[in-house]
Amino acid sequence: QKERYRNFPMVPRVVFGKGCFDQLGSILMVKRINSEAPFIFLVDDVFEGQALVERIPAICNDQIIFISADEEPKTNQVDALVEKIKTDFQEAPSGIVGIGGGTVMDLSKAVAIMMNNEGSAAKYQGWDLVNKPSVYHVGIPTISGTGAEVSRTTVLLGPEKKLGINSDFTTFDQVVLDPDLTKGVSKDQWFYTGMDCFIHCVESLNGTYLNAFSQSYGEKAFQLCKEVFLDGLSEDDARDKLMMASWHGGMSIAYSQVGVAHAMSYGLSYLLGVKHGIGNCLVFQHLEEFYPEDVILFRIMQEKHGIHLPKGVCANLSDDEFDTMITVAMGMEPLWENALGKEWRKTITPAKLKSIYEKI
Ligand code: NAD
Ligand code: ZN
Repeated sequence: QKERYRNFPMVPRVVFGKGCFDQLGSILMVKRINSEAPFIFLVDDVFEGQALVERIPAICNDQIIFISADEEPKTNQVDALVEKIKTDFQEAPSGIVGIGGGTVMDLSKAVAIMMNNEGSAAKYQGWDLVNKPSVYHVGIPTISGTGAEVSRTTVLLGPEKKLGINSDFTTFDQVVLDPDLTKGVSKDQWFYTGMDCFIHCVESLNGTYLNAFSQSYGEKAFQLCKEVFLDGLSEDDARDKLMMASWHGGMSIAYSQVGVAHAMSYGLSYLLGVKHGIGNCLVFQHLEEFYPEDVILFRIMQEKHGIHLPKGVCANLSDDEFDTMITVAMGMEPLWENALGKEWRKTITPAKLKSIYEKI
């Protein structure tokens, strides 16, 4: 029997502050099973050859694996990494450490789960399908906005669907929030991933699933986003605040859901490989019908930072391709129900979604 209220895990340990990355060595030391059991560091390949790599506390058998974030994580990529780690080492790893954005953090969560669970990662896409605890895993964001550092999901593209592994074993055991790690992010990417957080708040705060738990985090994150994107904060201050906005935005959707922009962005991503942050922005700019005031705010922020979104993304798509996107988007039932209530199918029809996609 399903319990009425969900009992969610939270990240049990977090360290925050400029330069706190340098404490990683001592944090990991007490988690080392023995000198043969390595830590595996999955690191965004933008850091290859950069000073950050020298600061990674890799000792003994530890391995650093660089990961490209050009494409979002896939189930077969998770399977291949797990296979590699099992072949390269006789001992099970002491843990997995993900250093990067949502892409690398999600990949790290999935690898940690799959080290201890049988079969392909695709088997576990869905809700609460994982039955064995994952290996110890640490998340270290280097760009702020997704909330992947706090969430209990890891979003993967599988052979049949793009869907998260949502489970109590997905959440990180340790998070390291060092705002200085986000220094090298380009302005466009900073905006897109930051807007992911803004959109999490808008969708949570305007959803029918809203409750005091989600609202308390959502309002804080929303206010921090406004400070970061509209007020003239110092760069240091903006980095600190966006990192905490991401955290609160993630906590807000833990106990509610996202909405229209995310549902439609999944369609774009599935068909065209459009990445999550920019995909959300591409959709959100046309959602004045659903989130009127926040779309205006979005456009003001976009203007202020001189962000030009691509145009004509859906210009040359066939009817079949539109149908694929629409099917994927309409399949995200909890998101629609959160956005518009149980009767959402009265407003959301294939024709309606097509008319929005055509504007992108
Ligand atoms: P990302 O991880 O793909 O990174 C975006 C770009 O920024 C990449 O090119 C990356 O190399 C670069 N980058 C990252 N840190 C950098 C730095 N410090 N300096 C220079 N460049 C840097 O983007 P993202 O927006 O953080 O994550 C998107 C992914 O997160 C998607 O796969 C999405 O599905 C997932 N996501 C997950 C959750 C969750 O709860 N698990 C929530 C939202 C999004
Ligand atoms: Zn998102």
